[in-house]
Amino acid sequence: MVVRTRFAPSPTGFIHVGSVYAAMLDYAFAKKHQGQFVLRIEDTDQKRLVKGAEERIYQGLEWLGLIPDESPKHGGPYGPYRQSERLEIYQKYARELVEKGHAYYCFCSPERLEKIRQEQKKKNQVPMYDRCCRRISLAEAQKRLARGERAVIRMKIPDNEKIVVPDLLRGEIVFDSRMIDDQVLIKSDGFPTYHLAVVVDDHLMKITHVVRGEEWLPSAPKHVLLYRYFGWKMPVLIHTPTLRNPDKSKLSKRQGHTSLDWYREQGFLPEALLNFLALLGWSHPEEKEIFSFDEFIKVFDLKDVSPIGPVFDLKKLEWMNGVYIRQKSDQELIGLLKPFLPQMTPEQISQAAPLIKERIRKLIEAADLLEFVWRRVDYDPEFLLQRGVTREQAREMLLKTKEIIEAVGVDNSEELQQKLLELIARKQWNTGAFFMVFRIAICGKKITPPIIESLPLLGHQEVLARLSLALEKLA
Ligand code: GLU
Repeated sequence: MVVRTRFAPSPTGFIHVGSVYAAMLDYAFAKKHQGQFVLRIEDTDQKRLVKGAEERIYQGLEWLGLIPDESPKHGGPYGPYRQSERLEIYQKYARELVEKGHAYYCFCSPERLEKIRQEQKKKNQVPMYDRCCRRISLAEAQKRLARGERAVIRMKIPDNEKIVVPDLLRGEIVFDSRMIDDQVLIKSDGFPTYHLAVVVDDHLMKITHVVRGEEWLPSAPKHVLLYRYFGWKMPVLIHTPTLRNPDKSKLSKRQGHTSLDWYREQGFLPEALLNFLALLGWSHPEEKEIFSFDEFIKVFDLKDVSPIGPVFDLKKLEWMNGVYIRQKSDQELIGLLKPFLPQMTPEQISQAAPLIKERIRKLIEAADLLEFVWRRVDYDPEFLLQRGVTREQAREMLLKTKEIIEAVGVDNSEELQQKLLELIARKQWNTGAFFMVFRIAICGKKITPPIIESLPLLGHQEVLARLSLALEKLA
């Protein structure tokens, strides 16, 4: 059997990191078994479509390196891969279910449905369709359709049956059919609902393993019934756990970090994000924390993923990202930093990259560390008086430093360092305090790259100008 997995996002704006988690497992599992990873665009809910969202899905997957073997863009033998281009297929299968007696036309108006819902709510009942149109014979329904009446197609849910959903991670989950609504399969505008489309497509596209978030678990019994009604073999179902914050709350948009774009914008590296996601519900057999995606593909197995809500610890991801940043060559890092430092010239970025490599966990932090390069960051004079340094001392420190820099310049860091250390020793200053005063005078901040090595980024004249400004503040 050829393993075929699919990622089936709806193009509704952004890719949720929980979907990325499922897509990562889809991709890894398909590749592990020399199978195929399919991208299908589930765009049947026309009201929720967002322009440009499909393009963002391709970009996101490309950035992660999870390139689909088949997709609307890449083509493939089981296309079209965009559900809105498959409407006739769904209609044909829905009609087949009606003919077999597993589905029926429902002519109820939205007003009637709303009325039932309100009445059920009043009685504290779960709102469900009252199956009124099940009584209409097929012949009668066809007459009404021929007269131009609008209808939806609903599936028949058995009256009182235990429906078993097999899940690779969770075992068998039993649902009571009395709790399941006669699900609409085809809406009155001719579009299918998710439930019909997903089952038809997974079957026709020969998907063997369905990996998706656990929020789809309640839909699974409907799918089990549809597979039974069609007489098709079910794919293996894997419902991945909902990702949670360390305080167990759901990852939320409010906190910013649900969207894949956010990770990219913050300067997380795709390989770090994949490594982090891999460890969410799974551990490496040798307890390794850092491993490549290729290694993950080799050693993981879907059945070993834990279904228990894993904690999405952003701090850990940041740590991991720092490790990956430090593994980059200077040349690679320069390329990665460019989009984050539009204010700096390529030469400046090349100079700065090795200075900040050890100091950042996300690429976006580079902008904060290097802000002094393109901007004279303002500060209060008191800010210069760190670690008990008096105004007088600070003045003297900066004045003497200025004299030394006037003499030796800023490009020879070793020479400058030696001269400054001699000065500090002669004056018996505290080394840490001296460099803090100097750093603030130049950068306006306490946290910067190594200060002496940073000076060439500014150049001799600018360094002297900033020292003069600091001295004016202290005057
Ligand atoms: N279109 C669904 C979504 O947006 C896919 C669910 C599934 O994978 O079956 O998440």
